[in-house]
Amino acid sequence: MPQKPDITPPEAQDQRVGFALVGIGKLTAEELIPAARTSEHARVAALVSGEADHARGFARALGLTDGDAYAYEQFDELANRDDVQAVYIVLPNSLHREYATRAARMGKHVLCEKPLGVNAEDAQAIVDACKGAGVLLMTAYRCQYTPEHWAARDAVRGGTLGELRLLHSIHAQVEDDPEAWRLKRDLAGGGPLPDVGIYSLNTLRFITGQEPEWVFATQHQPAEDPRFREVEASMSALLGFPGGVSATIQTSYAAHSTGTLRVMGEKGSLLMDPAFPYDGLKLSVSSEDGTHEPAFPEYDQFTLEFDHFARCIRRGDTPWTPGEEGVQDHVIMDALYESARTGQVVRLPAHTNRDAFRGTKPQLSQK
Ligand code: NAD
Repeated sequence: MPQKPDITPPEAQDQRVGFALVGIGKLTAEELIPAARTSEHARVAALVSGEADHARGFARALGLTDGDAYAYEQFDELANRDDVQAVYIVLPNSLHREYATRAARMGKHVLCEKPLGVNAEDAQAIVDACKGAGVLLMTAYRCQYTPEHWAARDAVRGGTLGELRLLHSIHAQVEDDPEAWRLKRDLAGGGPLPDVGIYSLNTLRFITGQEPEWVFATQHQPAEDPRFREVEASMSALLGFPGGVSATIQTSYAAHSTGTLRVMGEKGSLLMDPAFPYDGLKLSVSSEDGTHEPAFPEYDQFTLEFDHFARCIRRGDTPWTPGEEGVQDHVIMDALYESARTGQVVRLPAHTNRDAFRGTKPQLSQK
């Protein structure tokens, strides 16, 4: 079979995969729209928002027409748009399933923000809908598309640290608006765990390529704080990976903004701090050869995601982070909540293959 080329040239605007962005909040406005402008294989072809006026403003700024702006009620009209091949869902978590299912029914490929759903059953329904419709589904795990996280993975998997022993990650931030959808169980599915703690969980799974065999968790939900009537304020978890590798994850909506990752092997360790922002990630690897702080070229995480999914659509490849990758995080998060509720260790199904839920490796540079 001929080898697929590693590098595909930028395409003319009208040749690029057209995306409809659904939900125009902070992430869409400040990150995704600018990222799509520098993408080589994707472009924004339509925008969908609660109010058509809001979408129209963004459409005009992008050089699109008023006809490219849709209200949520008009979402199904995208079926008539042959130039929209994919839908990027950037809505509160509980709405992912409805919009992903409707997009799949229209034959549109689906890029969905993390967490994929509100629990494993919800997320699996999205996978089933996309499979049934024969469209691709990618979970937007931006940290699996950064050169820094791949370098950390290479250090772990390439043996630089020796036998793996301990893993640790914290991802926390302060959520101070009691009315935020992120604090409503029905909309968010949980508190900091599915919103920011998921980065710790997903990254540990990514860099080891392995799946936890059991979990134990405790959570804190201060009843007197109006922010935490429905969801946890903090969670601390212990996860058992194969071979006795032990991981701790801590997450909070009431602790100073922190995102850190530490991996300890028998012969070396690595630290990524900060580990999860959109830029400015710092990696330090210590081994028998000393301590190295590798430098990386500038890039945009969201552009790399857009380009990866666009290439997958062109080639019919399974994305590196398909829907199944999103479901597996939910399986583990459901187990963490069960453990916090029952005070018991919860065992998980064994997965012996490395990268059991991942697809085609991404190309990490834009050029
Ligand atoms: P947001 O609060 O900015 O809202 C996004 C959109 O949803 C907006 O258009 C908003 O008007 C709409 N919306 C809000 N509440 C709604 C409701 N009850 N019903 C219908 N529409 C509603 O949210 P966001 O921060 O953009 O998050 C959206 C998704 O993106 C979430 O799944 C979140 O986890 C994810 N996200 C990912 C990252 C990342 O780094 N990958 C960063 C931020 C958010």
